[in-house]
Amino acid sequence: MNTAKIVYRYKNGLYINLTNKCPTNCIFCIKHLWKMQFHKYNLDISKFEPKAATYINAIGEELKIADFKELIFCGYGEPTMRLAEMLEISNAIRAGKIDGLRNDFKIRLNTNGLGDLINERNIVSQLIGKINTATISLNTMDPEQWLHLMNPLEKYREKGFLSVLRFIEDCSKNLDETTITAIDNLGADIEKLNILAEKLKINLRVRSKL
Ligand code: SF4
Repeated sequence: MNTAKIVYRYKNGLYINLTNKCPTNCIFCIKHLWKMQFHKYNLDISKFEPKAATYINAIGEELKIADFKELIFCGYGEPTMRLAEMLEISNAIRAGKIDGLRNDFKIRLNTNGLGDLINERNIVSQLIGKINTATISLNTMDPEQWLHLMNPLEKYREKGFLSVLRFIEDCSKNLDETTITAIDNLGADIEKLNILAEKLKINLRVRSKL
């Protein structure tokens, strides 16, 4: 297998692969089906998780190769499992420590929304000024269906769904842009997701299963 990538490119973005750890095992996750590959990249960092400084250096090196329009914390794992590293990398960017990268560069978090429960505190206050946008894989407004689709670890089953909803609401109030996502052919009531999106004035993106 090719060397594991800690940062990788997709469309116009540079993606930061922070971890393979995840509190959910979503039934639509492609990481097992694609054997931890994403297109030409190997995202298997299960045996090593680099420090923030290594990512900061890797982002700078990528910038020397070619431009990108957005930085996205997203890999085959939940980025908020490594909140401290995510914040350290974002802080370095906001402090202008990466040559050639503006300190207001757009940074997005792709997440399953369980960051508060994972870190045992409200984390959105720490994201303000660092993360511009959050894309949250909500998938359904039905708590039972959420358990089925997201298949969380035991520790997250009881409080997970409500915690994700609260996280989404916090993001909607504090970040520049918030998007909830769902997959169109898994039986979820998309209209109910739409009602939530309209109420919170956030985006809903419905995609097809890969
Ligand atoms: S949250 Fe993402 S990485 Fe984790 S199981 Fe779901 S799809 Fe896979």
